[in-house]
Amino acid sequence: MERRDLLKLGLLSSVMTISNVYGSTESSNQNIDINKIVNKQRVIIIGGGFAGLSVAKNIKINYNNVEVFVFESKNIFASCPYSNLWFGGVEGVKYEDLLFSPLEPAKRYDYRLINDKVISINRNKKTITTLNSEFEYSLLVIATGIEYNYATFGLDENKAKECQNLFPASYNGGNEQLTLKKKIENFKKGTFLITVPKGTYRCPPAPYERACLIANYFKAKKLNAKVVVIDPREKPTTKAKGFLKAFNELYKDYIEYLPMSNITNIDTENKIVYYDTFDSTTKQFIQKKINFDDANIIPSNIATKLLKQSGLEITKDGWAKVKSPSFESLNDENIFIVGDALGEYPFPKSAQMANSCGIILGEQIAKKLEKKDPQYGTSLPGNVCYSMVSTTTAISVTHQAYLENKVVKVKAELFEEADNATAIATKNWYAGITNNIFE
Ligand SMILES: Cc1cc2nc3c(=O)[nH]c(=O)nc-3n(C[C@H](O)[C@H](O)[C@H](O)COP(=O)(O)OP(=O)(O)OC[C@H]3O[C@@H](n4cnc5c(N)ncnc54)[C@H](O)[C@@H]3O)c2cc1C
Repeated sequence: MERRDLLKLGLLSSVMTISNVYGSTESSNQNIDINKIVNKQRVIIIGGGFAGLSVAKNIKINYNNVEVFVFESKNIFASCPYSNLWFGGVEGVKYEDLLFSPLEPAKRYDYRLINDKVISINRNKKTITTLNSEFEYSLLVIATGIEYNYATFGLDENKAKECQNLFPASYNGGNEQLTLKKKIENFKKGTFLITVPKGTYRCPPAPYERACLIANYFKAKKLNAKVVVIDPREKPTTKAKGFLKAFNELYKDYIEYLPMSNITNIDTENKIVYYDTFDSTTKQFIQKKINFDDANIIPSNIATKLLKQSGLEITKDGWAKVKSPSFESLNDENIFIVGDALGEYPFPKSAQMANSCGIILGEQIAKKLEKKDPQYGTSLPGNVCYSMVSTTTAISVTHQAYLENKVVKVKAELFEEADNATAIATKNWYAGITNNIFE
């Protein structure tokens, strides 16, 4: 049943009822008004993903005399990390491995999960408005991840919706993942297209890892099929050596990599992608087109429109600006931004970074609530990012943030010789991060 049908039936009340609040032990038929701050200070977190849940837990671990509410528009947590392994049919990886319930940690650490979408922020009143109600906050954390932007492919809103439904990016958890999995399993022969997003996007290695694992699946099934990867860059965004080696050696007959290729239009009905590409003979960009049989079209990523709508400072690409080296908004001391929505620092957008920053921010907010110095810049985040290039081998990169003349910089270290030990580390990493958030 659609939400609007529920509304018609009058089952959703305008005042948030406890039945919308999961992670609560109170009885489900009890109405309570949780909109106004009464006794304790209140931190509201928008987004119950890797970043938001890490912040919630770590505020509560460090300071308990505060209400923490996490607003999440979805009612299921389906992980993007590890999803490529499931798409590629890596032995032992099931869809259930991507699914987690935040109810247990919410109960254990005493924060509230509210299944509702935040539609606006009123910074003067210090309130948020959701689809159902309005809530006051003392401090606000924006941890909303990414949204899609199909405009860079030349698609208007209608065409974008069509493209998203027909060839979902699967760059968010849920229905899109289930659809992509079916596409891969049902693919018989021909061209399977993957597009690498323009601009800054979530998990830089993910499209290339996905290409490897889908190619591996087609190869194992001996299909007369090819994965074509269209990339606006000269070479893969990260771990280029490792991915190109896999493309050229492991998947020579199964992956065709098209670098420096900018998509200008997509004909979803006739399954044609139009793109400009650099012609090394004429040294000019020329127009080309490619027909495909099925596709995973990953568009550019943008941050939530809530940032701009509420007048928060953003970068030219729309990501949040913060006061370095903190997560505090550049122009609002009561608002913090964390996870993929953040645009200030040279970190990759990853779950590990979201978790690492979330832990640090949770501790800083706890200190702020206790009227202590949050000591911005004392703890800086780190990242490790593994990519499987076959079902048994992987490559990786680490990032460590550091301060140089009060500027946050990042040191990266690449491990691009694929091996089995790194594949095992991939699985251990995933178990560790999900355990940290959902234990
Ligand atoms: C295929 C793939 C593979 C990946 N693999 C890895 C990996 O191996 N390692 C790694 O570190 N990272 C990986 N990532 C990246 C990782 O998924 C993201 O960086 C991470 O999810 C970012 O966390 P976040 O909390 O910022 O965003 P999310 O986890 O997306 O959480 C944001 C949440 O906010 C909610 N939300 C948004 N707007 C609102 C609103 N208005 N009201 C209420 N709720 C709202 C959304 O529903 C969402 O649940 C991968 C990504 C992909 C796509």
